[in-house]
Amino acid sequence: MTTIKQEDLIQSVEDALQYISYYHPKDFIAALTEAWEKEESPAAKDAMTQILVNSRMCAEGHRPVCQDTGIVNVFMSVGQDVSFEGDMALLDMVNEGVRRAYACPDNVLRASVLADPAGARKNTGDNTPAVVHVEIVPGDKVDINVAAKGGGSEAKTKFAMLNPADSIVDWVLKMVPTMGAGWCPPGIIGIGIGGTAEKAMLMAKRSLMDPIDIHELQARGPSNRLEELRLELYEKINALGIGAQGLGGLTTVLDVKVADYPTHAANLPIAMIPNCAATRHVHFTLDGSGVAELPVPSLDDWPDIVYEAGADAKRVNLDTVTPEEVASWKPGETLLISGKMLTGRDAAHKRIRDLLESGEGLPEGIDLKGRFIYYVGPVDPVGDEVVGPAGPTTSTRMDGFTEMMLDETGLLGMIGKAERGPAAIESIRKHRAVYLMAVGGAAFLVSKAIRNARMVAFEELGMEAIREFEVEDMPVTVAVDAAGESVHKTGPREWQAKIGKIPVVEA
Ligand code: SF4
Repeated sequence: MTTIKQEDLIQSVEDALQYISYYHPKDFIAALTEAWEKEESPAAKDAMTQILVNSRMCAEGHRPVCQDTGIVNVFMSVGQDVSFEGDMALLDMVNEGVRRAYACPDNVLRASVLADPAGARKNTGDNTPAVVHVEIVPGDKVDINVAAKGGGSEAKTKFAMLNPADSIVDWVLKMVPTMGAGWCPPGIIGIGIGGTAEKAMLMAKRSLMDPIDIHELQARGPSNRLEELRLELYEKINALGIGAQGLGGLTTVLDVKVADYPTHAANLPIAMIPNCAATRHVHFTLDGSGVAELPVPSLDDWPDIVYEAGADAKRVNLDTVTPEEVASWKPGETLLISGKMLTGRDAAHKRIRDLLESGEGLPEGIDLKGRFIYYVGPVDPVGDEVVGPAGPTTSTRMDGFTEMMLDETGLLGMIGKAERGPAAIESIRKHRAVYLMAVGGAAFLVSKAIRNARMVAFEELGMEAIREFEVEDMPVTVAVDAAGESVHKTGPREWQAKIGKIPVVEA
């Protein structure tokens, strides 16, 4: 019988969450570096450069790779010959580790978990509770995978109860383009096949904890049906040409994981969960000898590259920019923006809409006319930081507010990540506005362009409050121009045709 001290488990979970907030897994960095070397699409390569540079900066600076520091997922296999010393329930120990990790003063993490999800959606304040899966297994050790899953990638989860005769490959290839770029590719796709509905989901999520090894599989060849599926899906998903950040390119997935389980004769359940550019997980074992030791990676694991915007990048002053200048920007063009912008995301947009609808008007300080809004919920600053990591959030969540914002407030432009939906694009075209995208998963790098940050309104919304950022040379890409052309439509189409393995069907 092994005895594990309560404090050792709590401390191990805390250490693991701090560790994964700033260290990408070594296999992820190796796979991304290889994809970066091979990438031929300039826009995708630029995005991957930012993700890699950001990753190295975070490893050096011990700050989060993404402003969304995730909801904690834990997979725990507890040996049946293990006992715990302490007075807390197992789940309470995990949550205490989460609580401590997210409040760590040297590297404070963003609390993103809301209670009462169908109602008040109130932030729990400490990122608890974690989502914990426990199984009892033979043995005298506790085996733990700790992950912090980003909301943008979790949002793109798919599930279907296929008919037994349906094609799994066809379903996956139909679903992946519908996921857009909000899951911040390149990443990993986990697929669970069989069991029941919830078992398929669990397998898909659990598979994302395994190391990236698709190249080893390619080299040795498949030895069973699941490995055949992995290879086929890896090749065909990449042949869709979606590319890094959905800009069009050679690599959309760095690996595809597939797990299965026996199922009912009438069913073929399938779940698919993507893991994003902020892939964060670590594995450790507790054997009663103390707190888990996590290996400190060498900076040599990261490519020694710097980020420089292309020579043709255009400098833009947000304080003096005119609608005519905005209308001259071309889709795919890189801009280095300087000057002042406001920030806001879901909750702030809803407040703005409610205030306008009630006739109350907007609080002083929220004058959006001719200005840009950045969809972001930053991490709190530490030390002498102006703001913590502050990358973009998924813009489609703001699509339903876009017509109101452009029509009623005079907003000129928006900055976020991933594509916009048809209604938002039509509003952008109608108002001759613009949508710019920053790279999801490059949050610490982006934050270095922010010179000043001040609270403007709705402070009680925490990370969702409206702030004013003053930026200098923040790199962004024109994603929807004033004529309504979207690089997230043209880019993947162009690269799917170039790769030439899947015919492009015109919409
Ligand atoms: S990389 Fe993208 S999807 Fe992942 S946590 Fe960050 S913003 Fe969310």
